[in-house]
Amino acid sequence: MLIPKVGWIRLRLSRPVPAAKSYRVTRDRAGRWHVAFAVVPPAIPAPGNGQTVGIDRGVAVSAALSTGELLHVPGPTAREQMSLRRLERKLARAKRGSNRRSRARRAIARLKARETDRRKDWAEKASTGIARRFDLIMFEDLHIKNMTRSAKGTQQNPGRNVGQKAGLNRGILRSGWGLLMRRLEQKASGRVEKINPAFTSQRCSACGQVDPKSRESQAVFRCTACGYACHADVNAAKNIAAGHAVTARGGDGNTRPVNREPHLVLQSAQ
Ligand SMILES: [Zn+2]
Repeated sequence: MLIPKVGWIRLRLSRPVPAAKSYRVTRDRAGRWHVAFAVVPPAIPAPGNGQTVGIDRGVAVSAALSTGELLHVPGPTAREQMSLRRLERKLARAKRGSNRRSRARRAIARLKARETDRRKDWAEKASTGIARRFDLIMFEDLHIKNMTRSAKGTQQNPGRNVGQKAGLNRGILRSGWGLLMRRLEQKASGRVEKINPAFTSQRCSACGQVDPKSRESQAVFRCTACGYACHADVNAAKNIAAGHAVTARGGDGNTRPVNREPHLVLQSAQ
């Protein structure tokens, strides 16, 4: 392969070279060189079964499907976390510029690279599976969602587990979710609809009642009107699948219901 300003390089093909217009040469934290071709994964044909799925970015899990399935982005294993802590202690003790130090740093990078690979692999498989099974895929518009659901918790559920979720966990969730959505938009091109997330977490998917009190906890939804109980993220995913929110495309803010979500009001008052 001829790389401008570098010359000819030898490379091992990890997969057949796709027809790509551009590529990027990078070196990851583990010191591995990569040649990445900019290719959009080919669209997967719709199954033609008329099925719709709603996907909610979970608080309790990574993502919940309206079918009731819960998806978990793989994080580091307990063993990996242990060796990471051990290596970080080693790194802290090692003298600057020493061999020990660079060895420890490389080992940490290798661990993290393996973790990232696993997450990417998960997003590829999960997105392919969903694109194959459903004709229409609906999820919430992330830009709107980020405004309505902060990491600090919602008003009715203020900051429980904040410390626990902060940092590592949240990063894993976010990166896994982002990649999954990106791949879905590519693989199910033209079959993805993004909706406004208003009320999806407070609305009962069985009877339609909207009440913040129905969101019993981060994981449990129990309708104050009809008693319907469900995993909170799955309940939200069902609302998303049913399209019970203003579609992001059509919604312009003026068409919102009068009784806005309470924390939305709080946000705009800040
Ligand atoms: Zn209900």
